[in-house]
Amino acid sequence: MFSRFREHAETAPDAPFLIRPDLSVLSYGAALARTAQLANLLQAQGVRPGDRVAIQVEKTTDALLTYLAALAIEAVFLPLNTAYTPEEVRFFLADAEPALFIHRPEDEAAMADLCGALGLASRLTLDAAGRGTLAEGADAQPASLSFGEPAPDGLAAILYTSGTTGRSKGAMLTRGNLASNAAVLVEEWRFTAQDVLLHALPIFHTHGLFVATNVTIAAGGAMIFLPRFDVAELIRLMPRASVLMGVPTFYTRLLGEPAFTRALAAPMRLFVSGSAPLSAETHKAFQALTGHAILERYGMTETNMNTSNPYTGARVPGSVGRPLPGVELRIADPATGASLPQGEVGVIEVRGPNVFRGYWRLPEKTAEELRPDGFFITGDLGRVDERGYVSIVGRAKDLIICGGFNVYPAEVEAVLDALPGVAESAVIGVPHADMGEGVVAVLKASDPALDEPAVLAALAGRLARFKQPRRVVFVPDLPRNAMGKVQKNQLRDTYAGLFAREPTG
Ligand code: ATP
Ligand code: MG
Repeated sequence: MFSRFREHAETAPDAPFLIRPDLSVLSYGAALARTAQLANLLQAQGVRPGDRVAIQVEKTTDALLTYLAALAIEAVFLPLNTAYTPEEVRFFLADAEPALFIHRPEDEAAMADLCGALGLASRLTLDAAGRGTLAEGADAQPASLSFGEPAPDGLAAILYTSGTTGRSKGAMLTRGNLASNAAVLVEEWRFTAQDVLLHALPIFHTHGLFVATNVTIAAGGAMIFLPRFDVAELIRLMPRASVLMGVPTFYTRLLGEPAFTRALAAPMRLFVSGSAPLSAETHKAFQALTGHAILERYGMTETNMNTSNPYTGARVPGSVGRPLPGVELRIADPATGASLPQGEVGVIEVRGPNVFRGYWRLPEKTAEELRPDGFFITGDLGRVDERGYVSIVGRAKDLIICGGFNVYPAEVEAVLDALPGVAESAVIGVPHADMGEGVVAVLKASDPALDEPAVLAALAGRLARFKQPRRVVFVPDLPRNAMGKVQKNQLRDTYAGLFAREPTG
């Protein structure tokens, strides 16, 4: 990715790269000069090829350019979720042993202790306004650097998974993983140097760091770089953008804003959604309001992007589209690993230049999930229809087996979400003496009068009996991790005893 960035900076130095919320512009040429300063600073701090550079800071220009600087000197970029506490950071630093750790100045005391205990000497700071020892140190460095041509199979980043199904794992991604995926997406989504991406995603996750940034760089386009998701800011800046990439909540929040109108959205070229399932309701409501069919796609930390709905052609609500060029996708029997016939539900496996090299320092986990023939076992359950469109029905770990029948939570959630008075739902399996697992619906209500009997009655005619929840519980909010994903592990723990006293038989 760095070579593409440098090429654009050298051929079109005045082209805009980052547009800040105050509309000031950082050109490709200026961004390359700053990246060189940051790269020189990293080297001055003792960072060598292959060394990890860990970073836990707010989303600023220097934070993003540190990614490119690490690539420039063949270091391994390792961003950490800003929501992690120092205790959580301890795990990641001990696991990754970075040569340098860049953190927020306000965390100084905690990080000094932590790094002292771990024997990590080299630290720099960066605050939300872009100030700190990283920025000052870079200011003092020369703005040029001579670059070699790095090997494509070299490690570019270690990105920790979101930790939705268990402890986060460090996915090792190569330069080739990133470059091949970016090139494919430029073609598939018709990205050009004229595009302006509204970038409101975090840059510690694959979606905002790789998908959004790399496709923009590969095309030589620009990004309106927002520090965080803020629906009013999205609406204010949309007239200057051509593409929005978001998670489903971006779209539900936009639809809830009266200021979000057809006039505002219609001139946009493309709306993309990923990282979590986009409900068919949201897809349809968005299309009715704006005339745009949201393009849903499917990716993950370990593989970048796997599938996408087409740019031209049917964007099917509830489907994540077809495998990207170069990506092979198969549906495997979870028990035997054998490929299943078209139409059947099984575990999604993918192979291609996008697939990561393995989990950092977890050879056994890598061997469990990365087959010798190169297929990665995603852990997602899905099916492929006769036109080749993939639908995700949930995660293998979330599958509920109730009295011997498979219940796919996503199917039950879709029915619940469509009920009046339901804001959000999560369906889980809870140990049940008689049935193995009992289906439980956890709901956030939009109508405070909604109660358990009303929901159970509404579901009676809409779902087969074995799929109907036995219990409905209400929560003020569903527990979500920093990527906005519902943490079903936590819900299963909370409600583990729900059926303990229920008589069997
Ligand atoms: P962990 O692997 O640590 O449990 P995680 O899988 O949530 O966490 P990520 O790599 O951030 O970590 O997320 C990838 C997962 O997100 C996919 O495996 C899939 O379950 C889900 N996902 C991504 N895009 C979509 C989509 N369009 N529809 C449904 N699910 C999606
Ligand atoms: Mg995962």
